[in-house]
Amino acid sequence: MSALRRQVLELYREADAEVRAAGPVCVASGRCCRFQEFGHVLYISNLEAEVLLSAAPPYEQPVTPEFCPFQKEKLCTAREPRPLACRVYYCDPHYQETGNAITEKYLHRLKELAQAEGVEWRYAPLHVFLNEAPNSAAVAASNT
Ligand code: SF4
Repeated sequence: MSALRRQVLELYREADAEVRAAGPVCVASGRCCRFQEFGHVLYISNLEAEVLLSAAPPYEQPVTPEFCPFQKEKLCTAREPRPLACRVYYCDPHYQETGNAITEKYLHRLKELAQAEGVEWRYAPLHVFLNEAPNSAAVAASNT
């Protein structure tokens, strides 16, 4: 695993701890991952995309902006490498301000990390990165 990937995962662990401490309620509605239906767009950075794509299961392309291809039966099938916003976002109304502050803080840390490592910073909706990646479903099929 690359050093940068390890650093991103370490940063995720810190963010996870802050979210846990805040204790938002999850009712497992799955709506956080059905973007269009619930009026949000999941933005991620290229650093997060690399971590996600290095360990996420195969998916079909093209990916649309409507929902995440890793959500299956209301559960995330890319839980370990999922991006920052997926780790921090909860629909619990009592947690919105705290969640926004955690997101800001760790997004800033990711940007600093990119700068320190001399990596360009890109920030775009999830589907943009998923469509740019080599077709993982096709690659998986060719390996069987
Ligand atoms: S990566 Fe997982 S948590 Fe994030 S939007 Fe997709 S299914 Fe949801």
